[in-house]
Amino acid sequence: MIEPVIRAAQIANAARSGDYQKDGMLYCGVCHTPKQCRKTLFGREIVLACMCACAKEKYEQDEADRKKRENADRIMRLRSAGIASQTFRGANFTADDGKNPTPMATLRRYAERWEDMKRENIGLLLYGGVGTGKSYGAACIANYLIEQYTPACMINLSTVLNSMGGFQSEEKNTYISDLMRYPLLILDDFGMERQTEYALEQVFNVIDARYRSGKPLIITTNLSMAELNAPKTLEHKRIYDRIMEMCQPVNFGNNGRRADRAKEKMARAAELLRGN
Ligand SMILES: [Zn+2]
Repeated sequence: MIEPVIRAAQIANAARSGDYQKDGMLYCGVCHTPKQCRKTLFGREIVLACMCACAKEKYEQDEADRKKRENADRIMRLRSAGIASQTFRGANFTADDGKNPTPMATLRRYAERWEDMKRENIGLLLYGGVGTGKSYGAACIANYLIEQYTPACMINLSTVLNSMGGFQSEEKNTYISDLMRYPLLILDDFGMERQTEYALEQVFNVIDARYRSGKPLIITTNLSMAELNAPKTLEHKRIYDRIMEMCQPVNFGNNGRRADRAKEKMARAAELLRGN
């Protein structure tokens, strides 16, 4: 167990000019602490290389840097594996523009209390108008967890269905069970997928698999609560029922930030046309 330490000490603490001998041991010319130490081995005293104070400090700093790089790499891998959309990889609560504070505060509490949410298997249903920041909010949760090394997957539901459409049944099962392995799964844009009987069957299969996995699910949707409460068909009803059972609704309202952005753009255009 001690060997790698000695080897590291020998490398980090090779004799340098300025070093000197004192009491039969080599001393560092910079920090004036010994670069060697005496140990008794099988009843015989031997002199081993050890780290002087400045070498030890550098070694510890290098180790800390290495660990930091490793952790950053791990986060980057989790992020690129879990969040398909480049836009959402950068989403986080601190960078949020604060235009929809009430639901965002709920989402932040969800992320901060993730261990409880996981244990109690609590999911969320983020609903509201187009451009209210539901997907951004969901991505904030995903990134929050990823930064704590918890794998989270955020994927567009239509993408899931398209991928599954190209698979044989064996591959399809693998694909679904891969998604279910994530401690948190976010299905983005529920309700925008094709509404054929076949597609609805697939949607039910994915959501039901998540239900059976016993792990939290977050869904974002443009559907209104009224629509969710009045499913059009029996196929819709069994999907909505499952979602309502797993996910706590969070209302994002209807004040679109895309509408905001359009308004800002028009104001800017008017300004430019006035010659400002
Ligand atoms: Zn030294």
